Amino acid sequence: MDIEIVTLPCGPLETNAYLIVDGDRALLIDAPPESFLAVLDELERRHARLERIVITHTHWDHIVDAAKLRRETGAPIAAHPEAVPRLEQPRSLLTPLPFAIEPAPPDELLDDGDTLSFGPLHFQIIHTPGHTPEQISLYESTRRWFFGGDTLFPGGYGRVDLPGSSMEQTVQTLRRLLQLPDEVIVFPGHGPTTTIGHERPWIEQLVSQWR
Ligand SMILES: [Zn+2]
Repeated sequence: MDIEIVTLPCGPLETNAYLIVDGDRALLIDAPPESFLAVLDELERRHARLERIVITHTHWDHIVDAAKLRRETGAPIAAHPEAVPRLEQPRSLLTPLPFAIEPAPPDELLDDGDTLSFGPLHFQIIHTPGHTPEQISLYESTRRWFFGGDTLFPGGYGRVDLPGSSMEQTVQTLRRLLQLPDEVIVFPGHGPTTTIGHERPWIEQLVSQWR
């Protein structure tokens, strides 16, 4: 059976949780609000065990159910070193939230250049700051899959008008993504997939204006 990518848009911002399933084991990328039952349901249906929870960045809509999922499944949480303070003390962004965010300090750290292996897959960790300082992306070069959190969307990048975000870092990150092949499929933190090739024209234009 081939590896399956289950996309679960969850919570008020329809944040994508990605459950990657390889036979009886699974890897979760991001844990948005209301993903808890959805993830458990998918795991149960496939008789799969959750092996790890990777957090792309610490915005609340990507982390709310992480602690609960770790407790239920025993899967460790992995994130960038700069994510530690915000996972230990989560906050809302611009407006208060009607619920508390449970702290989810990571068990493992993932930094630029690290490799995260999952069955036959080997994800290269790329630090992709800009939308947030701690954001990481996971790139699987054989399959040509890129899980970028809010790094890149069809036609745009993650918003940079939030506390901690930086347009300059976004441009540097996007410049780096131009090195990826056109065929790479981008799985964003919200909405549908795209490809590097499809986004390349506007990215090239943007980064050329920022020399
Ligand atoms: Zn975000």
